[in-house]
Amino acid sequence: MDIHLILTLYIGIVGMLVGSFANVCVHRIPRGESVVKPRSKCPSCNTEIAWYDNIPVISWLILGRRCRHCKSPIAWRYPMLELSMGLAWAAIAWFYPIDQYTPIFILQAITLFTLLWILTLIDLETFLLPNALTLPGIAVGLLFAWQAGHAIDSLIGAVAGYVIFWLVAKLFLLATGREGMGQGDFKLLAMLGAFMGWQALPFIIMLSSLTGAIIGSIALLLANKGLKAEIPYGPYLAASGMIWFFWSNPILHWYQNLIGLA
Ligand SMILES: [Zn+2]
Repeated sequence: MDIHLILTLYIGIVGMLVGSFANVCVHRIPRGESVVKPRSKCPSCNTEIAWYDNIPVISWLILGRRCRHCKSPIAWRYPMLELSMGLAWAAIAWFYPIDQYTPIFILQAITLFTLLWILTLIDLETFLLPNALTLPGIAVGLLFAWQAGHAIDSLIGAVAGYVIFWLVAKLFLLATGREGMGQGDFKLLAMLGAFMGWQALPFIIMLSSLTGAIIGSIALLLANKGLKAEIPYGPYLAASGMIWFFWSNPILHWYQNLIGLA
């Protein structure tokens, strides 16, 4: 078999295993609990989950989507996160072949995706972007950039990301008397700036605020909540960051053509 295919499958399987751990992170980090111990338990009957009942996706299928002991249903999030993580890791390995990209770049892409996916799910469930993820994320982003020779761009990106959103939030508070963004959003933009350099910030801020405003208004209209309801901003930042990471070249190309045509 082709080595590229084998590597892709292998990385996909590792991605599913990490997806299983990501489930633990999504559940425990916002609650301030350790992600290392104790072992995972069924949230309904508190029975410890044996290793053979904790195999990504497969155990869920074998168990018929239910706990072995109390038969209460297992939430969809568990197999979905495992599967999506495996597929995304495999896709990264497939589209960034090892003979054209350095292992460090592939690791950087996988790390960024994994952090952003976990943060997105936590923000959707709890409206929090925990420091336990964003702060190490900033440090890891700086390290990757330093290794690739972009330390200064990355450092400026991290500081500017934080300061820009801090300023926006201050102005929003002055103008409206209420809190718009949370501190977690400042740190998430700092993390994206650390990973991709300050050059990524204009695009990320523009796309995330645009899509956030459009999708957020539609959701609020549908939910009939009025405009003061809280909507998480992290998922839009995460998605915009991922788009810039993978497609900044075609986006810049498209933009240059647009300017040229005008
Ligand atoms: Zn149970």
